Amino acid sequence: MKDIYDIIIIGGGPGGIGVSIESKILGLEKILLIEKTDNHSHTIRKFYKDKKRVDKDWQGQAVNLEGNIDFIDGTKESTIDYFDTLLDDHLIDARFNCEVDKVSKDSDLFKVVTSDGEFVSKNIVVSVGRMGKPNKPSYIVPPSLKTQVNFNLDKCSNGEKIIIIGGGDSAVEYACDLSETNDVTLCYRGAELTKPNPTNISAFKTFLDSGKICAKLGMDIDSLDSEHGKIRVEFKDKSSELYDRAIYALGGTTPIDFLKKCGVVVDDRGEPIFDANYETKTAGMFIAGDIAFKSGGSIAIALNHGHKIVSYIQSKSI
Ligand SMILES: Cc1cc2nc3c(=O)[nH]c(=O)nc-3n(C[C@H](O)[C@H](O)[C@H](O)COP(=O)(O)OP(=O)(O)OC[C@H]3O[C@@H](n4cnc5c(N)ncnc54)[C@H](O)[C@@H]3O)c2cc1C
Repeated sequence: MKDIYDIIIIGGGPGGIGVSIESKILGLEKILLIEKTDNHSHTIRKFYKDKKRVDKDWQGQAVNLEGNIDFIDGTKESTIDYFDTLLDDHLIDARFNCEVDKVSKDSDLFKVVTSDGEFVSKNIVVSVGRMGKPNKPSYIVPPSLKTQVNFNLDKCSNGEKIIIIGGGDSAVEYACDLSETNDVTLCYRGAELTKPNPTNISAFKTFLDSGKICAKLGMDIDSLDSEHGKIRVEFKDKSSELYDRAIYALGGTTPIDFLKKCGVVVDDRGEPIFDANYETKTAGMFIAGDIAFKSGGSIAIALNHGHKIVSYIQSKSI
């Protein structure tokens, strides 16, 4: 007979880490954290620039931490270190490089099918985030531009002419950071930036006033074309300009197909249906973190989901 876990957690980001740590602290010993990449916190590692400031109250979402994890403002590096310490100190049983393919329920137990075999659990928490599928523009990106049109900073080097598309904290942080060594334009369809937090707005104004960043606000893009190895961006006002690189910072999409393969019922807009304890229509199947929102979410919010879910599971078993 296979081991039967109390909770299997799918996704090793803040939501999954929150559930794992709260489980140990609240007395649920038999848990398994499954992460498809080679380490926890893939979104933080891949989409945050190095040394990025990490705000607890991200995008103006003031959050009171309800659980046992003392998450504070820091940097990308300090946040990863903190999560490393939590996972080590609480001896979390984690499988990395293990991708969940689907989940099925037979009587009261869930069977989790992964790239590393099958596991059985009484409860499942799905916390796979939305950045596995970053939002893309509605127009076609010519295949020849694939390496120059990006959704994070991995491929950037110095001395490039870069256009960043988006109007949230990520777009502004990318723009300020890259403008130290590149010629940067931020393009946003809104007439002004309203989403970023006050610190980022103020930094952006400073960079703008000093001429380090150009802004195209109230401006949408019509199309991208390839021209002699560069990106020709055609704007809605019929102007156009050549860039070496375009970076889209538009957030991510709910992974509807994956949720359905896990047995999560979604509404007609493709959003998962769940109750106040984050339990879906399938008893024992929970969702946590960013996928509980159409957009938005934060590390602190994801950690709170973990506390709420584990407290509820514990209360049922007493
Ligand atoms: C550029 C950027 C900057 C941000 N800055 C901040 C900030 O300063 N402060 C803040 O609070 N928030 C910030 N956020 C938001 C924050 O990162 C998210 O709210 C948070 O990461 C959500 O956690 P999560 O666990 O729901 O999802 P994620 O962090 O996306 O984690 C999901 C995990 O699930 C794994 N996974 C996916 N599919 C599978 C599968 N099938 N099997 C196994 N594993 C799987 C992924 O590899 C990933 O590790 C930022 C986001 C971005 C993109």
